[in-house]
Amino acid sequence: MLPRARCVPGTQGYANGRTKTDCNRLNRRGDWDSGAGNAFVGDNIMMFFVALVIVLVVGDLASTFLYHVPQHLWGKLHLRTHHDRSRSFWDHAVLSKDPQVLLDGLLGALPYIAIALGLATLGPAAAAGAVLGLIAGQLHVWWRHTTDLGWKTPPWVVKACRALQIVLPEDHDGHHRNPDIEYGDIFRFYDAPSRAIITYVRAFARRRRNALRRLQRIRALRSLRNTQRA
Ligand SMILES: [Zn+2]
Ligand SMILES: [Zn+2]
Repeated sequence: MLPRARCVPGTQGYANGRTKTDCNRLNRRGDWDSGAGNAFVGDNIMMFFVALVIVLVVGDLASTFLYHVPQHLWGKLHLRTHHDRSRSFWDHAVLSKDPQVLLDGLLGALPYIAIALGLATLGPAAAAGAVLGLIAGQLHVWWRHTTDLGWKTPPWVVKACRALQIVLPEDHDGHHRNPDIEYGDIFRFYDAPSRAIITYVRAFARRRRNALRRLQRIRALRSLRNTQRA
């Protein structure tokens, strides 16, 4: 272990044989500097929780706007599987081995996994937080599909989840029954922007369709007139 004096810039030990990086590394490991050691532990704890929250919040953001909303606008897979009323939603989310159901689940989970993999490169603390984020996300998948099993969320949990904007099983059940409401897998604050995007895109597509139809009618009339003149 290096004596403290050797890592003081300008001293002999610092100049001879030990670089600034070596000294910084020693400081971070806290070998001889308990203040730096505590800061290192604090940084790691912070990193762990930041990674955990990022996997859940950014993962849900990416999954909602890159997969869920586009599926509701243009896709068929999600509507055919996740909104299939012929089967129990518990069966759909937890038990089903139907490849299409599994594919829908995997595509929805990919953004969370990609973000967790990115965070894992930042070090062991971030990796552990990212893994716990994925586990928490999976637990939430199971929990939000428990209404079919008769789950009723206790009032105090409702209160806590409302404060944190977390989707309750009852909220998610609403999305199964009415695909136009309650977007966001884990957080409810993605619901309003999702609906706004869907409404805007559908209105734009409707206007475009109507304009194209009008154009077709005008062209048909013109060609009829031209034929009559000839
Ligand atoms: Zn569901
Ligand atoms: Zn949906």
